[in-house]
Amino acid sequence: MNLLFTLPLLGFQYGDLAPMMSAATVETHYSKHAQSYFDQLNQLVPGTEWEGMSLDDIAAKATTGPIARNAGQAWNHQMFFEQLRPGKSSKQPSDELLFLIESSFGSFDAMLANLKQAAVSLFGSGWVWLVMDDEGRLSVQQLQNDDNPLRHGWKPVMTIDVWEHAYYLDYRNRRGDYIDQLWPLINWKVISSRIAG
Ligand code: MN
Repeated sequence: MNLLFTLPLLGFQYGDLAPMMSAATVETHYSKHAQSYFDQLNQLVPGTEWEGMSLDDIAAKATTGPIARNAGQAWNHQMFFEQLRPGKSSKQPSDELLFLIESSFGSFDAMLANLKQAAVSLFGSGWVWLVMDDEGRLSVQQLQNDDNPLRHGWKPVMTIDVWEHAYYLDYRNRRGDYIDQLWPLINWKVISSRIAG
């Protein structure tokens, strides 16, 4: 298979996020689920109008069909795994990001509560996003399945995978517990770099 798209390496070992996220969850999620979206994309894209385009462009411009679904899922997982970090104390957002958060939600904690509510109430499979609009305002968005803020003209800032495969081994049906235990794993330094400039 000609490898057009490659799942980026994890910046940590499978077991480094335990106990909040078990080694089994990280290994299955990363090496099976996320990898399969890249593998399928590499099977589907050659010989199509999408050949030669970046994953960013395909994820933004393809909106229906298998290429769109796999590109969206590949892009979303790339972003999700990039923003996770080992350790129990979360780094703080940059002053720039904190200003935007407080302007948009009132407080950092209010934003987290908003994200959790969106994650718990999303029906079925999908992703919850912190996005920025053209005027620099942040908002929380629920998107179904493989959907992606790039398709809606929003800048993706952070994301939460709420497909059951992201948490079911560790938390079964308790999606809210997964979200509570996810916060210490979020690398706000990486997220802050996404809005810089
Ligand atoms: Mn996933």
